[in-house]
Amino acid sequence: MKVAGTVKEVREQVKEWRKEGLSVGLVPTMGYLHEGHKSLIDRAVKENDRVVVSVFVNPTQFGPNEDFESYPRDMEKDSALCEAAGAALVFHPEPDEMYVDGYSTFVDMNTLTGGLCGKTRPIHFRGVCTVVSKLFNIVTPDRAYFGQKDAQQLAVIKHMVTDLNFGIEIVGCPIIREQDGLAKSSRNTYLNADERAAATVLNKALTEGKKQIEAGEKDAEKVKKTITGIIESEPLAKIDYVEIVDWKTLEPVESTGGAILCAVAVYIGKTRLIDNFIIEK
Ligand code: AMP
Repeated sequence: MKVAGTVKEVREQVKEWRKEGLSVGLVPTMGYLHEGHKSLIDRAVKENDRVVVSVFVNPTQFGPNEDFESYPRDMEKDSALCEAAGAALVFHPEPDEMYVDGYSTFVDMNTLTGGLCGKTRPIHFRGVCTVVSKLFNIVTPDRAYFGQKDAQQLAVIKHMVTDLNFGIEIVGCPIIREQDGLAKSSRNTYLNADERAAATVLNKALTEGKKQIEAGEKDAEKVKKTITGIIESEPLAKIDYVEIVDWKTLEPVESTGGAILCAVAVYIGKTRLIDNFIIEK
């Protein structure tokens, strides 16, 4: 497995693979890799001849008061995980390789990005769309893999690929969880022992909400109330949002009858965690 720090190296490698007629899968990440990321790499390795994992903490998707500086990083461990999982290339650029002096072009979206995480993180999806577009142009993959853990991101990327004719298949992958149900996340390392225990409330609340829908509850407000009540019963938890939206438009719904995304963002202490479930129809 190679580790490349420059765009040029990646392009040269991909060119060689293309000459051999090999297919290429891309798994974009911010590193500090865990089983969630690994599940994406595993799937990509199964479905492509060669897999590129990008490890890049993208400064443009963090707001001024967010955790860009403190975001956990461990390149040695990440390389080992990628190699063991069968990736062929890790792309690990420095910020100034991706955003050269005078950089001024951004990819933005008028729909899908205003609600949910876009409300508290107004520039987040502009940064995500920009960096993912750049990665798509650098790697030119056949397929790219994204987790349902970041459901709004998955919807946004699918939409962007259609709008901008990228011609890349976007593959959504299920949420990987800890034994107690907490969705795996690089940010879980911020939690102290009490917060780690409190963090299980996200999945507990969502599980109850899902059960209620499966038992026939159609009123989205009632389901949101159930979820909100459970989260509020945890003293260390502070709700950012509890939303039930249409899984296509990401607009709030009154009825849970269609294809829906039920998503929450909750502060546990200072750490903002997200989780969700999707009911496809
Ligand atoms: P990140 O490094 O947090 O930007 O995540 C990189 C990719 O891994 C994104 O597509 C995430 O949705 C996905 N991912 C992160 N955590 C999980 C998880 N617990 N299960 C499945 N996919 C995940």
